Amino acid sequence: MELGGRRSDNVIDARGRGIGLPVVGGGLGMAVLALIVYLLGGDPSAVTNMTPSGPQGAPAAPGPPDPQADFVSVVLADTEDTWNEVFREHGRTYEDPQLVLFTGAVDSACGFAQQAMGPFYCPRDHRVYIDLAFYRELRERFHAPGDFAQAYVIAHEVGHHVQNLLGVSDQVSSAQERSGRRGANALSVRLELQADCYAGLWAYHADRARHVVEPGDIDEALTAASAIGDDRLQRATRGYVVPESFTHGSSAQRSTWFRRGYESGRMETCNTFAG
Ligand SMILES: [Zn+2]
Repeated sequence: MELGGRRSDNVIDARGRGIGLPVVGGGLGMAVLALIVYLLGGDPSAVTNMTPSGPQGAPAAPGPPDPQADFVSVVLADTEDTWNEVFREHGRTYEDPQLVLFTGAVDSACGFAQQAMGPFYCPRDHRVYIDLAFYRELRERFHAPGDFAQAYVIAHEVGHHVQNLLGVSDQVSSAQERSGRRGANALSVRLELQADCYAGLWAYHADRARHVVEPGDIDEALTAASAIGDDRLQRATRGYVVPESFTHGSSAQRSTWFRRGYESGRMETCNTFAG
């Protein structure tokens, strides 16, 4: 993948200053800790109100240039350029999402999340959350190496942001409330496949405008898409929970929709809800 473009201003590097899991008693939950404090005659709210912050709230010192963080920033900027343009063509205004890099665990407007959950998008704060360790996982556990595969993961999450801006996510949520569990699950799959199609759409535009796609890249993305499909995931990992991936659809479906977006470059072809 050819990358030399601008860097996004929307990356928040929260690595190393995320949520420290309980400093005291390693592994003791907050509730247990609060109970102990209470039993000792203290004020349990002193514990439960403890805001998760880094070492004495000191802001993380800017580290040395980091190629992986830099890569994420370039890809995010590229999705911004693409979606700003696509939205403009449709008479709409795109709002850039933010992307939070974290290590281990993070507190989002959608709740507390751990790296084991995989990358995710939180519609409430318009942020994409990603622990770079996931990329190692992608490479080693799911055999999806390559920088374009990593870019795909970001583009997929940004696809969820697009759905949020367009109101698709809200429509799906309310439809899910009216349907049974199976129906709700099927709707989630359609939502995920549309995010894949949007990731493909990004690849199409990024390539036309900036020639970022090199031979083999699309295969990398498709490998990533199919590697993190439901069926493969559930087979590869037992007891490993990746909610973002749970309801993504089969590997074949994911590849198909990514390819549709990539070949057409048009949002209209990404209607995974029709039929
Ligand atoms: Zn997703």
